Amino acid sequence: MKVCKFGGSSLADAKQLTKVIDIVLSDPQRRVVVVSAPGKRNKEDTKVTDLLIALANAGLKGEDTAKPLAAVVARYAEIADELSLGDEIVKAIEKDLIERIQSDKSDSGLYMDLMKASGEDNNAKLVTEAFLARGQKARYASPKDTGMILKGDAGNAYLDDDSYRRLARAFADFEGIVIYPGFFGYRKDGSIATFPRGGSDITGSILAAAIRADVYENFTDVDSVYPVDPRSVPEVNTGIDTMTYREMRELSYAGFGVFNDEAIMPAVQARIPINIRNTNHPSQPGTMILQTRRVIPGTVTGIASDNGFSNIIIDKYCMNREIGFTRRLLTILEDERIPYEHIPSGIDSLSVLIRSSFLDAVKEKRVLSRIKQELNPDSVIVTRDVSIVMVVGEGMAFSAGMLAKATQALAHAGINISMVNQGSSEISFMLCVKTEDRNEAVRALYHAFFD
Ligand code: ASP
Repeated sequence: MKVCKFGGSSLADAKQLTKVIDIVLSDPQRRVVVVSAPGKRNKEDTKVTDLLIALANAGLKGEDTAKPLAAVVARYAEIADELSLGDEIVKAIEKDLIERIQSDKSDSGLYMDLMKASGEDNNAKLVTEAFLARGQKARYASPKDTGMILKGDAGNAYLDDDSYRRLARAFADFEGIVIYPGFFGYRKDGSIATFPRGGSDITGSILAAAIRADVYENFTDVDSVYPVDPRSVPEVNTGIDTMTYREMRELSYAGFGVFNDEAIMPAVQARIPINIRNTNHPSQPGTMILQTRRVIPGTVTGIASDNGFSNIIIDKYCMNREIGFTRRLLTILEDERIPYEHIPSGIDSLSVLIRSSFLDAVKEKRVLSRIKQELNPDSVIVTRDVSIVMVVGEGMAFSAGMLAKATQALAHAGINISMVNQGSSEISFMLCVKTEDRNEAVRALYHAFFD
């Protein structure tokens, strides 16, 4: 059995929804369909979830909600109309929204979640109608009835682990096609809770894990995952056929934007293969993400990069002999609630790479003064505007010359590398460069490894 999740762009209008239905019906194994709220129909358009946030804000401020409500209803009405689904469903959606708007507003977070969740909930009901209109045996399944119990803060909820058992039981002997709304679940007290934005991926991943699906198909609007971000390297033309969970994790750590690795963690933990596919080109096989794959030695799978890092560089003669030096340094960072990313060290020097968002000017001053006082270094400086570039591939392990090839490519491009870090798994190494050199570095590495 396959669990397939369709994102907002795949459900933005009647034409897209028709493609979705065709895709599902083309494979009898596609039995569980997780849907997002309708997304953007074009670049200038607004996602239904964003319309709902505007509607909720109007409700919270006591403003007139008629206009933002009409904007939301119009999106569903347009789809229902084009597919001749009748106005029953649109009336039901409008009624549901009015009830939500009028509900208790004493906790704005809960109210916001209640409103946001309606985007996927009502869309699942609409999509079910569209399947029924095609003469298919389909039914809407509610996160409440199936036991999708969440906990945590509004807008940032996570799964209560017992949900897997409940969901497996609820799906034990279902028939036909189940349409399931993504993005939200219920707390034990009955209130609605949403995952972070983009959270329908999480719902799909949880269901795939709970029912032990053969594959979790995540339909989006790209043919496959590319080895580099096409915004940095427009000439990239071949996608990745297969990659491992580990490769995906390394790449998405460094800002690989196609999907969020935490979102698909439930499927990864249950070792369910994940297939990223394109709703607009369903004949393309997409990218398969697996536990293991056949590897060609000496090859790279992908290159990712991210900016917004700072480096604290500390020099002290004979640092290597000073017991407790790093512990004391980390205590200072811990006291300031600064998580670190990497700490490469030499005998007389050490750098701590951190995300700049955790080190504003005030914190920087405090941290530097404590380091000077408590560690008595020869020098300590902070460099900002650091970018990381991550080169990833299972094929790199035990292959000589991979790092040399990368450094040579950057040397040819005249780019200085300020830090190098290779994990012990040898499936990735990280290079730090100045943010102004980031795109050029990715391009140089791409041509070195993929041409
Ligand atoms: N509709 C939600 C959002 O826009 C969730 C999702 O699409 O996955 O964030």
